[in-house]
Amino acid sequence: MEIYLDNAATTKVESAVSELMVRIFTEDYGNPSSLHKIGYRAEQYISEALNVFSGRLKWKRKNVVFTSGGTESNNTALIGAALFRESRGKHIITTPIEHPSVSEPLKFLESRGWEIEKTAVNEEGIIDPEELKSRIRPDTVLVSVMHVNNETGSIQPVEEAGKLIKEANPECLFHVDDTQGFGKLPLDAAKGQIDLLTASSHKLHGPKGVGLLYLSDIATHIKPLMYGGGQQNGLRSGTINVPGIAGFAKAAELILEGREASFERIRRLRKDFVSEVVKIADVKVNGGRSVSPYIVSLTVRGVRSEVLLHALEDRGIYVSAGSACSSHKKHVSPTLKAMGLSDGEAEETIRLSFSRHTTEEEAAEALAALNELIPSLRRFKRR
Ligand code: PMP
Repeated sequence: MEIYLDNAATTKVESAVSELMVRIFTEDYGNPSSLHKIGYRAEQYISEALNVFSGRLKWKRKNVVFTSGGTESNNTALIGAALFRESRGKHIITTPIEHPSVSEPLKFLESRGWEIEKTAVNEEGIIDPEELKSRIRPDTVLVSVMHVNNETGSIQPVEEAGKLIKEANPECLFHVDDTQGFGKLPLDAAKGQIDLLTASSHKLHGPKGVGLLYLSDIATHIKPLMYGGGQQNGLRSGTINVPGIAGFAKAAELILEGREASFERIRRLRKDFVSEVVKIADVKVNGGRSVSPYIVSLTVRGVRSEVLLHALEDRGIYVSAGSACSSHKKHVSPTLKAMGLSDGEAEETIRLSFSRHTTEEEAAEALAALNELIPSLRRFKRR
């Protein structure tokens, strides 16, 4: 039996999605830019994909750009907005808990003369929107705050932040990396006055290598990263990934349709799991009350995360050490450090992440394994 609890790293593709994609690969394989019938058929899939996002989220079709995933959407949003606003100012505000696909392009911009300032987060990993507002200056051109943190699940008050940002400086663009929240937690781009919003398909049971960037009317003028044939209103040149986009839209449709019911079920599942797991001695759940039900970050004192991860793996239970995206790099998670964890605690932190398909039995199985493994791994360490 395999119990996959690493859904924040990536998810299993829905069969309705893969079936649709195979049909496009083998039958409707045209280039939407072609003028003939086969091109037209391909174009229809893109049009239907746009219908999903415009219908469900009330986004205008012209405000959606499909990309190769969360990383490209974040890079386009940040570098594109910075270049677009260069003549107005070079001050950008972000948080210390962003994914590297946000923090690294910002480092690049910093090396090119932009000033990058970070707001603080509290021990629950949450920013203070008022403190963020107080940092906004006339030359602040961009603010980037993630919605759901990929390591701890902490939910940032982005709608409140958006309102305050625009109060302080209506010209300032607001970017939200919603890679971990999209389709799982509600977020209204219009209400949050969000100008740029990132989503990624493979986190919601769609294919890898495809994502989107939503742009408010004003943000459609940002500079593109890709230059070429001028596809997607010139914002993202390159032959359109029809199977990927159609698969993404199908997955988004399925997840958005069942969002509230899944959220409620997973919320209960997490609550039960957490209330039991903290009974194990010296096990702490990171994050506070504002947390996504789909993610649990556990610090297990006295057991290194890799050791626990592999012990769980031996039982067919798959989790990750801190953040899967950075686990190949040897560094202590900046997110956990910003929340006040010591280096030692950060190295003893694992992440379990659920999906809408995770069952109560799977969570119970993982809990039983943790109950058994943690005391025995601690004994083993002491020998
Ligand atoms: N942002 C966050 C918060 C993420 O968790 C990830 C993926 N781990 C990304 C961005 C990057 O997305 P992608 O894998 O689609 O490039």
